[in-house]
Amino acid sequence: MKYLYNAHIYHNTSFDSQLTGLLIDRDRIVKLCFNDNTVSPDCEKINLNGAYVYPGFIDSHTHCFSGGLYLSGIDLSKCISIREVLEYISNALKDKQQYIFAWRFDEEKIAEKRFPTMKELDSVCPDRPLLLRRIDGHSCILNSKARSLIPGIISSDEILIAEDNDIAVNWLQDNLSEEEIIEAYKNAAKAALKGGFTTVHTMIGDAQMSNQHYRLIRDHLNDFPIGFELYPQSFNITDALELGAKRIGGCILADGSIGSHTAAMTLPYKDKPTSGILYHNDEFWQIFIAQAHKHNLQVAVHCIGDAAIHQINSAYAIQDREQVKELRDELIHCEVTPDSLIQEIAKSGAVAVMQPAFDLLWGGNSGLYAERLGERYRIMNRYKTLSQNDITVCGSSDWYITDMNIAMSLYALIHHHNLNERLTPCEAIKIYTENNSWLNHTEDNLGKIEEGYIADLSIMDTDFTKPFDWNKVQTSLIVKNGNIFYVNG
Ligand SMILES: [Zn+2]
Ligand SMILES: [Zn+2]
Repeated sequence: MKYLYNAHIYHNTSFDSQLTGLLIDRDRIVKLCFNDNTVSPDCEKINLNGAYVYPGFIDSHTHCFSGGLYLSGIDLSKCISIREVLEYISNALKDKQQYIFAWRFDEEKIAEKRFPTMKELDSVCPDRPLLLRRIDGHSCILNSKARSLIPGIISSDEILIAEDNDIAVNWLQDNLSEEEIIEAYKNAAKAALKGGFTTVHTMIGDAQMSNQHYRLIRDHLNDFPIGFELYPQSFNITDALELGAKRIGGCILADGSIGSHTAAMTLPYKDKPTSGILYHNDEFWQIFIAQAHKHNLQVAVHCIGDAAIHQINSAYAIQDREQVKELRDELIHCEVTPDSLIQEIAKSGAVAVMQPAFDLLWGGNSGLYAERLGERYRIMNRYKTLSQNDITVCGSSDWYITDMNIAMSLYALIHHHNLNERLTPCEAIKIYTENNSWLNHTEDNLGKIEEGYIADLSIMDTDFTKPFDWNKVQTSLIVKNGNIFYVNG
């Protein structure tokens, strides 16, 4: 048994000053201790020194493989010359494995204003395949070794874009060893712990592959200090069933992004004569979702623009509503939502899985969204209005797109650019605890601090119900299934 004491404990939407301790037996919270220190002497006593104890925070949408892989790659974001790039690569080679992955390269920051050449890369890394990726992921360059190994590249240019870029990146990811794949997820787990999370929903695969990864992580779930909830990110229902998944999808795309003018809008963008792109027709989604439902799979689809959200929500709406509600089908991102669309979503029974940091980074009247969409920035990321219409809102980072950082995410919800869409601290906390647990059908024993609930706890140095500076917040301790997995300092 463990006795956590001298703490502020978040219970029933507030910190109760009388409630100062928790008794944990194996993986369960067995007792809420109100000002009483009468615990059996053989208990392991842990003094929390006045820290703030929350139900374990859950992130409901991440891309852990890519994010984790990046963490073990060579980060070139600080380089300002070709010589530095080569030095970084050369220094990192000592402890790297078979494949070398360098990323966050930005030629705008480099004195020479160019990529390194293949010859330059060969001079520091002649015998192992090296891929150097631009910061936005949309172009890359290979050394000679990698270029000779990767089949199917069409262009004769050294810098690869579009399809060739995908071929190169996918080849590298497909050729990693099992240890390297697991290493990427371990990196992700570390980032999650540091950011204050006990459970993370993660996409596996990129809509083409990758049953191999799914199987591997599924079979190693107990090796990670956090809980991973897996999404086979594909359209292949047979594969999902074979893998034993209870859901399908993730960022399977109904449309693109607002930054690249590919999110599908009902009306054209403000700064370009386009309305974005719907990647599939209505019938495609209707058939896919009906098939998934036939096998009781929860469905998750990426949809950002109002035309895309309408398309996916309509495909949910023609299914049996009770089943949509029971399976908890997801509208991932769900960013542009005029009032009429919110009414439609309320009727279909779908869930909005959203990214609070997007508003923090790109919202407001001078942000990227306003630049692209004009006044429509006001009808984006409407946490409050969606919630008021009985639509469950779940919270996530979309990591590696934004950081897994609970303090930043809560701050973004509480300080939305649009005053009407701000949540109270309690509402914000609920999104990352109860709601995200509910999304995973675990609400009966996870997501609250209650007797009998699983002992997943995020112990922070900060009271999120009062004003706070998210940059300064630290995770003190993470308890997962009753075990202590992270101790800061
Ligand atoms: Zn995503
Ligand atoms: Zn997405």
